[in-house]
Amino acid sequence: MLLEFGVSAPEAERVHRCYPVRLAPYNLAQLSREDAGDPLNRMAVPSVRELVPEPGVGADPFAEKTRAACCYGLKQRFPDRVLVMAHDRCAMTCRHCTRKGLLQDAEVVRTPGQLAAAVAWVKGHPGVREVLLSGGDPLLLPDRRILAFVRAFARLPQIDAVRIGTRVPVTLPMRVTPVLARALGVFKKVWVNTQFNHAREITPEAAAACARLVEAGIPVSSQSVLLKGVNDSVGALFDLCTGLQRIRVRPYYIFLCDPVAGIAHFRVPLRRARRLERELAVRVGGLALPRFVMDIPGSPRKTPI
Ligand code: SF4
Repeated sequence: MLLEFGVSAPEAERVHRCYPVRLAPYNLAQLSREDAGDPLNRMAVPSVRELVPEPGVGADPFAEKTRAACCYGLKQRFPDRVLVMAHDRCAMTCRHCTRKGLLQDAEVVRTPGQLAAAVAWVKGHPGVREVLLSGGDPLLLPDRRILAFVRAFARLPQIDAVRIGTRVPVTLPMRVTPVLARALGVFKKVWVNTQFNHAREITPEAAAACARLVEAGIPVSSQSVLLKGVNDSVGALFDLCTGLQRIRVRPYYIFLCDPVAGIAHFRVPLRRARRLERELAVRVGGLALPRFVMDIPGSPRKTPI
């Protein structure tokens, strides 16, 4: 199937062994068979460039694998929030993914016992006020499992927000069913952070998925990634940010690529990123203007560029 997108079978096989390839029919329908450099192709179609080593760059710069877990499947980098690994799969394996080398053998909370232990840990640490359900994509789980996660943490009085990190509104929007959106809205603590990187990802289906969440009372933001050949022009960023505002999704962050192996061909130099930030600020008002940040290993915060 990837032959149609200019990738040979041996190439695809080599990349897939290192960084698995997964695409849903919805993603395939958006890709271009004529233009291998199409922005959506770049994010979805594997490339042998992923296998080119980058000096000094490894698979796990934030020590997610080696950092002592608070308990199984739960990691803490910042004092007021914790990450709960709720799944190890995504609808589409984004070629620029920060966790591309980590998901295959990630510690994931799967059993009621593991969830109970995670909740007990949070309860024992009253400084934690935000829980981030991530992975992988938590919204690929069955509804009852998603709701079990949310319910377990949302009922703790110390928790102000249960944040769901998901690209499903972009990559598999029909999964955000009206029933699921309404059920998540009931808790009044759920926030959804998604990741739109290009205006063409704002399809009628994606807009409808976000509308279902927003209308259920759930704030939706986009943490986009600045990607070479995808959105590294002021025009592309303008279209992305204004398009998001139009569907009531807050353009929240633009992340520079993390120092992770396998994504060197997506990196935008810092100087260019700074210029894009300045140029974008001239063209859009604050509500549609994301903060340009980078995640620096060891830093206690997201760092403005
Ligand atoms: S959806 Fe997120 S976690 Fe999954 S592959 Fe894409 S960037 Fe990575």
